[in-house]
Amino acid sequence: MPDRDAPAKILSPEAVRDWVSAQRSLGKQIGFTCGAFDLLHAGHVEYLAEARRRCDALLVAVNSDTSVRALKGELRPINPEQDRLAVVAALQAVDAVTLMAETRPAELIRLLQPDLYIKGGDYSAATLRSKPVVEAYGGHVLLIPIRSRTSTTAILERAALLQLHEKVPAARRSQPPRLVFLDRDGTLIRDVPFLHDPARVELLPGVLEGLQQLQDAGFTLVIVTNQQGIGLGYYSEADFIAVNQSLLRRLFPAGIRIARIYYCPHSLSDDCECRKPGKLLLERALDYFHASAGECFLIGDSIADCQAAAGAGCHAVLVASQAPPNAPCTHRADSFLGAVAWILSSPRLLT
Ligand SMILES: [Mg+2]
Repeated sequence: MPDRDAPAKILSPEAVRDWVSAQRSLGKQIGFTCGAFDLLHAGHVEYLAEARRRCDALLVAVNSDTSVRALKGELRPINPEQDRLAVVAALQAVDAVTLMAETRPAELIRLLQPDLYIKGGDYSAATLRSKPVVEAYGGHVLLIPIRSRTSTTAILERAALLQLHEKVPAARRSQPPRLVFLDRDGTLIRDVPFLHDPARVELLPGVLEGLQQLQDAGFTLVIVTNQQGIGLGYYSEADFIAVNQSLLRRLFPAGIRIARIYYCPHSLSDDCECRKPGKLLLERALDYFHASAGECFLIGDSIADCQAAAGAGCHAVLVASQAPPNAPCTHRADSFLGAVAWILSSPRLLT
């Protein structure tokens, strides 16, 4: 059962020092452990329960988002630090939780001087980098073997494995999917230069209704987007994904599913082949879905979108009042719904 006092267990760097002093004045033996705790699983629960059995008060330092990224790569953590703190704090075995800005705990250990520095898994005391720090003030290192085979990595691998599988119905040969490629910025959502703030995602008029119509007509929806802000270092891939999540959250309640998102993270100077007007993003999707280019459409707001579609052999519908008259598109529409209406009435669907 979650601990009802959980929020009170989350302590600021100042409060955690007071907490340690208070526990010490009560004569309690303080245990300290740390980790990312990104996807809390049975192994974590078992480990923290065992750690608590070895001390009188257990303090857990949870790695900050920045430190998790430094340790595990740009796309981690999956869960933000405030959520990870809340989940760890909800465990009965845990007496206090604090955020750890550093990747390694040595500094925090030196500051707080817990009686026990507890570590789980396949470390050996001899190789533990914090051991000299702990022993310098008379503390002890305690290693707890992890018996559970569960790990965050194993969970992510299993999720990725499940995504790879697709059961094909035995009854009939399915038709190749028809794709509608959707440019993101300026087509689905308001164009904000170098958008990286999920709160600034704003669906453009008619997008929700138009996507519903396309989906109801059997089209598979695929986003193709240039994100040179990543290549220029203006925002991270994690920021880009957070913006996409904000967009998808607006589409899900209407039952709209984006099948895949293809993106180019490069800047102009990278001279890549994927950046629209290049056709590589679309070709990757056509390959992935085994789709026929001539049956597929793109809705975009720029000449580059149209050139990418033309290069891949798809039909381009341009939604842009400012575009030059010679834009290489199959059709021009004055609104997103207008583009959808043209696609749905296109005689090409009959071929
Ligand atoms: Mg655009």
